[in-house]
Amino acid sequence: MAIERTLSIIKPDAVSKNVIGQIVSRFEAAGLKVIAARMMQLSRSDAERFYAVHAARPFFKDLVDFMVSGPVFVQVLEGENAIQKNRDLMGATDPKKAEKGTIRADFADSIDANAVHGSDAVETAKVEVAFFFPELNIHSR
Ligand code: UDP
Repeated sequence: MAIERTLSIIKPDAVSKNVIGQIVSRFEAAGLKVIAARMMQLSRSDAERFYAVHAARPFFKDLVDFMVSGPVFVQVLEGENAIQKNRDLMGATDPKKAEKGTIRADFADSIDANAVHGSDAVETAKVEVAFFFPELNIHSR
């Protein structure tokens, strides 16, 4: 299986619940390595650009409001099959539908405040990693 990199964001709801460490522990226990990380406050423009693919969706404004409502923890995870592995650990977008034991089932309150973001494909992972960590391109695999 390929060694991949994926972008993970611990969203403002989970940061405010003080569970960054618990979430990162799950990535580590699953064999994913944190190779870059930063705590930051997104600007509206950051959030709008990051979620541009959803710009026409009815939930877009609420999503941007939520993503700028407090600090987020952005990180790059690396490991075998990292993109799908992270998605499996996260669980379904709607925590009510997320499998038991997933991050969203355990830490998220609603479909909009759903604790984590994770890239969903190789191409989006590349773009999203570069969005927050352009310096990683210098030694990209
Ligand atoms: N979202 C929302 N309402 C919806 C669908 C999505 O608020 O009906 C938000 C939610 O925070 C989600 C993000 O938009 O995580 C991006 O949606 P996507 O379908 O890409 O889900 P994800 O990849 O995060 O599981």
